[in-house]
Amino acid sequence: MQQITGKTKLLGIIGDPVEHSLSPIMHNAAIASLRLDYIYVPFPVKQGDLATILAGFNAFNLVGFSITIPHKQAIIPLLTEISDDADNIGAVNTVWRTASGWKGTNTDAEGFVAPLKAMSRDWSKTTPVILGNGGAARAVIAGLTNLGCQEIHIVGRDPNKLARFYQSWSHSTKITSLLKIHHWDNLSSLIPAADLLVNTTPVGMSPHVDTSPVEESLIQKLKPNAIAYDLIYTPNPTQFLQLAQAQGAIAIDGLEMLVQQGIAALQIWLQQPVPVDVMRDSLKEYLGL
Ligand code: NAP
Repeated sequence: MQQITGKTKLLGIIGDPVEHSLSPIMHNAAIASLRLDYIYVPFPVKQGDLATILAGFNAFNLVGFSITIPHKQAIIPLLTEISDDADNIGAVNTVWRTASGWKGTNTDAEGFVAPLKAMSRDWSKTTPVILGNGGAARAVIAGLTNLGCQEIHIVGRDPNKLARFYQSWSHSTKITSLLKIHHWDNLSSLIPAADLLVNTTPVGMSPHVDTSPVEESLIQKLKPNAIAYDLIYTPNPTQFLQLAQAQGAIAIDGLEMLVQQGIAALQIWLQQPVPVDVMRDSLKEYLGL
């Protein structure tokens, strides 16, 4: 346990619930490894208490904080400035203090693309197919746009939600020009064309470990050198990734995205490089992976 001193600087996470957050584990592991006089604390914050908590953070000089459900959108009007990624995604997960006020960004897009950037591929010639059109899919779209993809295929099961999802990007002509929206029934023709197949649905997540968003007969249509990316981090690997790997695909699990979005946030707050392996290992140990 690190020592708390009179000079300890405060970081934290707000949410409701916040008890299950893994962020305190990885951030405090990195802080301890760097021997810095900081601590990262969970703050349970109810809807409607955001302005009060922000005033409190101002008063005691909190350095920065993470945001989880249900505050990722509601925080935006209370901030002085948000990044392009946060603006595109429509949600903020990281906030820090600046001379002019609180600034916010969303590090999920950066976290998602980090393992992809490590691969040598021509992303402008890659066909990504995204399963699901919820909150996480927004970060995936922002990330793939930053990566230089020229088309992004989104697959959803509810035509009305899909139409609203497409509409929600109308602020960005660049992104709407890349997006192609498909109903789940068209998966059998999309999968053979996919170079990157991303699961952003919760299907396959613990405890429903024997389920996959895509049935085995369809995954068998994947190209052998395709990348299968599951945002789920428990179990690890998911059934979706196991089936794709059996097909010869390259598998990426959600743990790396989780770690990398945390790394991007901690680097903003500390303004220095942070120990990636320490953060990854702390989560693996905590999750028993
Ligand atoms: P969300 O906003 O609730 O979106 C979930 C999406 O999955 C929706 O489009 C939903 O469709 C679809 N879906 C749910 N069940 C489905 C099914 N049986 N068949 C087809 N589609 C289905 O959730 P989220 O915040 O995007 O999170 C999604 C997953 O990503 C979770 O497992 C979460 O843990 C993971 N995640 C991981 C990270 C990371 O760092 N690794 C970060 C964020 C999220 P409907 O709207 O039609 O229900």
